[in-house]
Amino acid sequence: MYRTKVAVVTGGARGIGKAVADAFRAEGTIVHVIDITPGDWFTGDVANKETLEEFAGWVIAQSGHVDYLINNALPIMKGIDDCSFEEFQYALTVGVTAPFYLTKLFMPYFSDEASVVNIASSRDRMSQPQTESYTAAKGGIAALTHAMAVSLAGRARVNSISPGWIDTTDSDITGPDALQQPVGRVGKPEDIAAMVSFLCSDQAGFITGENICIDGGMTRQMIYHGEHGWIYKPNV
Ligand code: NAD
Repeated sequence: MYRTKVAVVTGGARGIGKAVADAFRAEGTIVHVIDITPGDWFTGDVANKETLEEFAGWVIAQSGHVDYLINNALPIMKGIDDCSFEEFQYALTVGVTAPFYLTKLFMPYFSDEASVVNIASSRDRMSQPQTESYTAAKGGIAALTHAMAVSLAGRARVNSISPGWIDTTDSDITGPDALQQPVGRVGKPEDIAAMVSFLCSDQAGFITGENICIDGGMTRQMIYHGEHGWIYKPNV
């Protein structure tokens, strides 16, 4: 018997989360969004345990089951010079604890072919200075993904996506910012939404515990001073 699919998207009010939610809606899937920004969705902070419990109850009261859980809400980025204990903890709560706890809350309600997709970042493997809170959260969610894939074997597939630079402002980015990327452009939210749709589809039925980096090839190119237009100019 066919029943309407149900998706949950955290941070689905704008950016990548909105593109993911829109792609699900276009397929006829019911989408439940939680976002800290007030709007026409469940408004709340995913860092709050009671909020997550209330949200999960609200989703199940409305839909009864969950097919797809997309953990996407954005953790804050602060560096070791300025980041307080509380701010670091907050980033980890948004970026790691909330995806863990929401998965746990929805586990009894997952359908037979459920799929969890965690949005990590290419920063789970590379860094700019002063990004510790965000980078730690992204490393955490990438590892959480394979742990949950094994624990949830037979109940849900769990994968992560590591986006590179995704422009969420619909700008026309040209010049070096675009050309430095092996594919010659900056990413769009739809680049990530397409992979979320694929990972949630039957075609991805043999994929679990996997991470897919979607970054236009930026993490795959070697950079040496004087080669391929790369010039090192030290600040000192
Ligand atoms: P965005 O700022 O456009 O959207 C993030 C959404 O999350 C917003 O709607 C915001 O209100 C919501 N949000 C933030 N904190 C929240 C909280 N505590 N509780 C509930 N909702 C909250 O960001 P984006 O670029 O679309 O990022 C989406 C995801 O993709 C994030 O996990 C981000 O780390 C990841 N990512 C983005 C890029 C990029 O270049 N845009 C690159 C790598 C990874």
